[in-house]
Amino acid sequence: MMPFNKKQTIKNRDRREFLTATACGLGIASGIASSIALSADETPAIELGDNTIQVISDGVMHLPVSMILPEELINPTERDDFLKSHNLGPERLSQDCNITLLQQKDKTIIFDVGAGPNFMPTTGKLYEELGARGIDPLDVTDVVFTHAHPDHLWGLMDDFDEPLFANAQYHLNKKEWEYWLDDNTLSNTPDDRKAFVVGAQNRLPLLKDTLTLFDYGQEILPNVEAVDTAGHTPGHTSFAIHGGTESLMLLGDALTNQFIAFEQPKWRLAMDQNQELAISNRLRLLDRMATDKQRIIGFHLPHPGTGMVERNGSAYRYVA
Ligand SMILES: [Zn+2]
Repeated sequence: MMPFNKKQTIKNRDRREFLTATACGLGIASGIASSIALSADETPAIELGDNTIQVISDGVMHLPVSMILPEELINPTERDDFLKSHNLGPERLSQDCNITLLQQKDKTIIFDVGAGPNFMPTTGKLYEELGARGIDPLDVTDVVFTHAHPDHLWGLMDDFDEPLFANAQYHLNKKEWEYWLDDNTLSNTPDDRKAFVVGAQNRLPLLKDTLTLFDYGQEILPNVEAVDTAGHTPGHTSFAIHGGTESLMLLGDALTNQFIAFEQPKWRLAMDQNQELAISNRLRLLDRMATDKQRIIGFHLPHPGTGMVERNGSAYRYVA
């Protein structure tokens, strides 16, 4: 694949204009709004000081229960009873994919890029959703990654194999970069996850010239602080967005399912690469969010994934 360059930027714009024209044409021809082809939801923006925050859907991901909570990690009866009590399962779990867009005076920042065209047919909707909101991917100044799993990274290239955010500066945790590009990572990864490694190794090097690597605790962009939530992946990062006297936490995958992660935070999840570390960071995060009554946005919480954490006995609950 070619590195990002000016020529691709122009091609990208041509295609965008074509898609916009097509969508408008549909609207005029049918006499109804152009949202027939493009389905922007009506989720209102959140204003936080000088920050305007919107959540955009990349679609819905369907995973087998056995991939998230395999019998090696949990008693299947306990698991199935819990899922049934929340009308979930028994065969698969569906999770929304929520991309956060942060607009500041001089910056348009996007957190994760979704799954793109090559992951699941029900995901990879970001491009259309941006178009439906009148947001040009070429105007995105910064792309920030929580981690490099497929549903967060593979949308980097579009279905024409061109960069979607061709003018952006990219930001990734240094540990995440080192882990995925390490020579030993592929051989140390179980067969059913090797595609994650190959996918990351095919894509991350494309960012080399436009990538800033950060550490936990840094203010990586104005009002955006990198928060250590390692465990799901070695460099998994959540982001605190500060505005005025308030702040909001973008969780990424530190808390995923709205019932499992909050009500059973000590369950070991197969998708967490270091399960013990993920659990301790999850508990720390839940305690802090409940105590501070801080707003959260979860990548996999029910769209738009905004809400709060409440204490519920010795565990917690998610309040949308
Ligand atoms: Zn995810």
